[in-house]
Amino acid sequence: MASLAAAQVQEVRSITRIERIGAHSHIRGLGLDDALEPRAVSQGMVGQKMARKAAGVVLQMIREGKIAGRAVLLAGQPGTGKTAIAMGLAQALGPDTPFTSMAGSEIYSLEMSKTEALTQAIRKSIGIRIKEESEIIEGEVVEVIVERAAGGGGARTGRLTLKTTDMETNYDMGTKMIDSLLKEKVQAGDVITIDKATGKINKLGRSFARARDYDATGQQARFVQCPEGELQKRKEVVHTVTLHEVDVINSRTHGFLALFSGDTGEIKSEVREQISGKLQEWREEGKAEMIPGVLFIDEAHMLDIECFSFLNRALESETAPVVMMATNRGITRIRGTDYRSPHGIPLDLLDRMIIVPTAPYTHQELREILNIRCEEEDCQMSADALTVLTRVATETSLRYAIQLITTASLVAKRRKAAEVSMEDVKKVYSLFLDEHRSEQFLKEYQDEFMFNDAAGDAPQLM
Ligand code: ATP
Repeated sequence: MASLAAAQVQEVRSITRIERIGAHSHIRGLGLDDALEPRAVSQGMVGQKMARKAAGVVLQMIREGKIAGRAVLLAGQPGTGKTAIAMGLAQALGPDTPFTSMAGSEIYSLEMSKTEALTQAIRKSIGIRIKEESEIIEGEVVEVIVERAAGGGGARTGRLTLKTTDMETNYDMGTKMIDSLLKEKVQAGDVITIDKATGKINKLGRSFARARDYDATGQQARFVQCPEGELQKRKEVVHTVTLHEVDVINSRTHGFLALFSGDTGEIKSEVREQISGKLQEWREEGKAEMIPGVLFIDEAHMLDIECFSFLNRALESETAPVVMMATNRGITRIRGTDYRSPHGIPLDLLDRMIIVPTAPYTHQELREILNIRCEEEDCQMSADALTVLTRVATETSLRYAIQLITTASLVAKRRKAAEVSMEDVKKVYSLFLDEHRSEQFLKEYQDEFMFNDAAGDAPQLM
């Protein structure tokens, strides 16, 4: 029995492990200390201290709710950890602050306009904390009826008659309430509480009323085994949703099911206006609170002039999130125009951004990142293999070297070795080309490929 249980636990662990390994799954935060100073290696983060420190300041400002509607640009060469820093920020913010991540190219879709896609992304990045007062009714159970609905299928209906101080009331019960009732083994004569918002039933004890209807003072007697303070008549329930979820739920053509299918389409502006009005009311009454989160747009140079101008305007709204962008482009054409500008971003938008540069890594930092990735992928690598891999990262790219970890580990497994050796790394290095060698290869054999445009003046890709 014990071994079976152990095997099951093992299985569960390995599943979570598989889900966890992604390009940035080793990043667990920004790796800062309490004073927001970056630690050399912490929470999966290595080096890039200035940018991490800057991200820490942004983190603090978001936490304090100070910079809603501001824009931050992470700019630097490919593979210098821009996306990693954004993911670290998301982790550091925690699950209660909405963080939406998208690539600039995601706004180009046939289903909705670019501005609608951006509006949805912006509204996904704003949280609303809604406070609701939940009522708790307390009373003595007179009768409980639970029936299986005709036609079977496990459906049940139920009715509960509850005697409160002055009257008897019938409650139709939903599945949740029935489950809760059966779990608590509630029967006539029990004193219970029902949470009207959640349908949760709590058994407090048995009433003596049935056995001895009146006590010495002539009042109805009741024995309640309830520890002091457990019974609260009202309690506060807090739900956190995003503004986009509220939009979808209120959009009559889609309904809340669209949240699961993701097929939300365009949302009418009247719906959004109504929601904004209602929210304003709730905020004034103290029922709702806004939590501006972060919208992260990777590959920001893929946005075009219309998107930039829309964002420029959207950032001025009182309820805008912090927009964080990342790009690896230098001075380039702004999409949708013939103008060139730094990072392909219009100057007026750049002017309102805080720009955080990222710098290339040192040899030692690359080694450290690769080491962390090996741990993340459960790959044992010998010291000399790691040295070779670091060399590969220096001469080609960090990304390419990271890819080689998985492949080298497979090669090692095939020869039934527990550790990846230098030979394994060399083998996969020769099997899989990096970008530079691939280009060399193409140059050498270009005549044998179709559509060879190398000699001509073919249009350059972005
Ligand atoms: P690009 O401009 O090409 O999008 P990028 O700057 O966004 O590149 P990342 O994708 O963040 O680069 O980095 C490449 C890989 O290296 C990722 O797997 C990332 O998690 C890892 N990485 C980068 N920087 C660090 C770091 N400072 N600490 C730990 N891991 C890092």
